[in-house]
Amino acid sequence: MTPHLGCIADDFTGATDLANTLTRSGMRTIQMIGVPTSSPPNPVDAVVIALKSRTVAPELAVRESLAALAYLQFLGCQQFYFKYCSTFDSTDRGNIGPVTDAMMTALDVPFTIACPAFPQNKRTIYKGYLFAGDVLLNESGMQNHPLTPMRDANLVRVLQLQTSRTVGLISIEVVRNGVEAFLQEMARLQKEKVDIAIVDALSSDDLITIGAACSGLKLLTAGSGVAQGVAVDLRKRNQMIQGSDNSPITIIEGARAVLSGSCSTATQAQVAAMIAAGAPTLAIDPLRLAQAEPVVQETLQWAAEQLNLGPILIYATADRDAVRSVQSTLGVDEASKLVEDAFGKIALGLVELGVRQMIVAGGETSGAVTQSLQIEGMYIGPQIAPGVPWTTSIAQTPLNLALKSGNFGSPDFFLTAWDALSHH
Ligand code: ADP
Repeated sequence: MTPHLGCIADDFTGATDLANTLTRSGMRTIQMIGVPTSSPPNPVDAVVIALKSRTVAPELAVRESLAALAYLQFLGCQQFYFKYCSTFDSTDRGNIGPVTDAMMTALDVPFTIACPAFPQNKRTIYKGYLFAGDVLLNESGMQNHPLTPMRDANLVRVLQLQTSRTVGLISIEVVRNGVEAFLQEMARLQKEKVDIAIVDALSSDDLITIGAACSGLKLLTAGSGVAQGVAVDLRKRNQMIQGSDNSPITIIEGARAVLSGSCSTATQAQVAAMIAAGAPTLAIDPLRLAQAEPVVQETLQWAAEQLNLGPILIYATADRDAVRSVQSTLGVDEASKLVEDAFGKIALGLVELGVRQMIVAGGETSGAVTQSLQIEGMYIGPQIAPGVPWTTSIAQTPLNLALKSGNFGSPDFFLTAWDALSHH
């Protein structure tokens, strides 16, 4: 069965967020890292392609997005979804506008919506103005973002700066009047030569209305919130493989390991909790890596002896002062690179030693590990903590892999995450 929904996400964690949302809404979902070269081996309802196109030059973002779109069309997807951040992260040049434009042209669609709302996470849109929590986007701290400062909360204005197409608004009154009213408004806007409509949404029910009203649109552009509505609609129309809430992934039995290269506050507590629980743990010293000492070999030797004792933890996680001290000796980039390279090699060695269930903490660290293990994509499984699912990787040696970005998860995450696999 060909996948119904083809999604393109403009960053890695955003892709995971969307894939997690779709899976929890009952869709079998696969996340691919970059534009793949082959078809997913198992049948899925949705394919999410993770790009890194949020802050690159618009021309490059367009090129990569169109390549991803061509792949999704090749797979036979019927509906397409361009996923961006719920805070509409973009610059005056893009890339939300240019990528939307290019996808509309490629798919030959006259009209689409733009809706980053995610009410569950307190991202709501009223009269086109995006709120983050109780304040307007441009008062939320996002106005100071280093790469994508958001200085205007009016999304009609923000998007209009990025596109030569005409941007309009579908207001909350229309959304609350239901699907019929929404459809009429879309028809009216198109007559008025509006090409892209920002859509108001204040609650999860609004997302359901939007999902149902937009089922006839070939292209949607949105945050991950609207995906809930799309999934509910697809289930109603029986467009899913099985339409159940569980998300079967293959459990791969084998040894368990945690690799932690994140120094975020939440991760520090998680490392401390695993040490306190008496698990086998080993710290990586970046200064020894810098002196080309055989840290990776030593670590793997240690791991070989400890793996049968239960989940092991290998960490470079350190507090702010320790990290600063290392960075002032080695330089920020060099320190990061050394630690990331080491984790890449350690991950490979651990797989050779029989590790098949692995948690990686840290966004950059996860990037280094997935690259080193040559992971092409992941089937999304049960959620461990909000935004962090177990996955089954697509690679020569598949693993159950959980990629945890720095500040996610409770202190016992490394200790209890395994339960989600056992209870599966
Ligand atoms: P997070 O998701 O918490 O930001 P990342 O993995 O994205 O975690 O980033 C952490 C960065 O810090 C990585 O580049 C990692 O290699 C680096 N790092 C980890 N431990 C240390 C350390 N002890 N000293 C210096 N840098 C470190």
